[in-house]
Amino acid sequence: MAATIGIDLGTTNSCVATVEGGRPTVIPNALGERTTPSVISFTNDGERLVGTPALRRQAIAPDQTFSSVKRHMGTDWRASADGKTFSPQELSAMILRQMKKDAEAYLGQPVDKAVITVPAYFNDTQRQATKDAGRIAGLDVLRIINEPTSAALAYGLDNGTPQKVMVYDLGGGTFDVSIIEIGEGVIEVLATSGDNHLGGDDFDERLVDHLIQVFEQENHVDVRRDASALQRVREAARQAKCELSSAQSTTVNLPFLMQSGNAPLHMNVTVTRSEFERMTHDLIERTSAPVIRALDDAGIAASELGCVLLVGGSTRMPAVVEHVRSLTGREPSNSINPDECVALGAAIQANTLETANQGLAPYNEILLLDVTPLSLAIETVGGVATRVIDRNTTLPTHYSQVFTTASAFQTNVEINVLQGERPMAKDNKSLGKFKLGGIKRALAGVPQIEVTFDIDANGILTVSAKDLKTGNEQSITITDSGRMSDEEIDAAIRDAEQYAAEDAVRAKNAGAVENARRQVATVEAALSRAGKRIDRDEKKRVKASVAQVSRYLRKRPGKMTDDDIQALIAATEDLERVGAHVIEVASEDQDH
Ligand code: AMP
Repeated sequence: MAATIGIDLGTTNSCVATVEGGRPTVIPNALGERTTPSVISFTNDGERLVGTPALRRQAIAPDQTFSSVKRHMGTDWRASADGKTFSPQELSAMILRQMKKDAEAYLGQPVDKAVITVPAYFNDTQRQATKDAGRIAGLDVLRIINEPTSAALAYGLDNGTPQKVMVYDLGGGTFDVSIIEIGEGVIEVLATSGDNHLGGDDFDERLVDHLIQVFEQENHVDVRRDASALQRVREAARQAKCELSSAQSTTVNLPFLMQSGNAPLHMNVTVTRSEFERMTHDLIERTSAPVIRALDDAGIAASELGCVLLVGGSTRMPAVVEHVRSLTGREPSNSINPDECVALGAAIQANTLETANQGLAPYNEILLLDVTPLSLAIETVGGVATRVIDRNTTLPTHYSQVFTTASAFQTNVEINVLQGERPMAKDNKSLGKFKLGGIKRALAGVPQIEVTFDIDANGILTVSAKDLKTGNEQSITITDSGRMSDEEIDAAIRDAEQYAAEDAVRAKNAGAVENARRQVATVEAALSRAGKRIDRDEKKRVKASVAQVSRYLRKRPGKMTDDDIQALIAATEDLERVGAHVIEVASEDQDH
């Protein structure tokens, strides 16, 4: 059977897993890491780095490095890099492509099918954008599933006692809480709530503020003025935060962080766990309201919960565990790594869907009954949002309602599809508008227009309108500024594929390019060190040879043809020969 993967496309980190020999397994990346930072960086050579190498460049190339892209999913935010602009879908596709590549390297076979997870709180546009990102990455997205649902699958709760479960997911950038009902072969999400802008990043920022404040008090220098110093503090703060999850205190030690005149300034600040907990108390407290709301929406008391699952790296903080314990009166389970369980559940779901598709096993798919995170409505007379589908309706769902015209002899109606809980249309998010024309002239209130909302298992919405008198139906596409058209997706796929081809060439050429760069750097350094001990003619010959290699290096490694590489190798060999004497003289110089 073809290998399928489950991907947890996270705000801070992403994780990929597969089912191997019947067991869900996390796939490590090429660096051996079990999660990959969701960071992309564009180098001056046109290389696109993903993961830890990209994260490392954040300090030196903040303008070319992009993180927390998931926060922009489904919006018209764009990143500019490498002379182009990129949508959140395209940047996310680069992360997904990397996960696909890592999975293929690990499994030794091509992988083209995946289940991708999204926060339960994601709206339709964000879900669609995630699916588009998968397509751009060359993946057949079998299904988009909610992260908490995925976690429940990883815990194998679908095979145990029927119960209601709370999934408390505090990741790097988002907080989600869901109440799930697990029954016979059915997992139903009863209610979801959360905060799209709360996560471990906020805890990092609190610690960064504290460190900078202490440093400023001691040295009267503002670290925020120096982007790379600030980045070093950020990384150190993140590490200190993680250390404080197991230790009672930690010291942030950053030698040579900045300079004051000519004097180097070092950061050396000790932070205790209780200090850190005081700084971040309100952040943890912010998770209470969504928890209470989710329980209310599900119509249950915390005492009715069978168990509470902790998901997301930030639930490793002891204060978070304590908060959940006191909020729910339950001992939270965290036997599976909180940053891996979502990907593991997605892998299980991908495997189940693929097994069923291939008819290899009886169709025993666990039904994942997810819910609409927000209500859906259409705009009616007076700018009112008239609700068609309520928040927390189980998916898939299909609902029709008959509307009519507001003025006499109106021959068309505009349907404005809204998402949100507010009573007035303007206060909700408009997912798109469309017109149904050709309505027979009649008095107001006579024509009957049936509006149908269809939400599929992925949570993706289609709206249609039908004039019941004429049978005229308008099939519509909901356009949204954050959504990509098929043409745009195809163009992005082509771009990503071309890039992947360049990447392969670049990998093949990397050795020759690296060797040439090193040779140029060595000879140039030797020339300057040897100085006058080299006569003018020789200097000229060596410089010409350096210039020749540099000319070949001007082309991007990914764009080099075999001929270019052969020419580069020959020019480098020439430089090795021509420059050997200079290197010899320069090293003698050093010896004396
Ligand atoms: P996730 O999105 O689930 O990968 O969670 C990532 C977030 O968890 C980041 O903000 C990490 O800094 C945070 N995190 C990971 N490990 C720990 C830890 N041991 N203690 C506190 N936070 C952690």
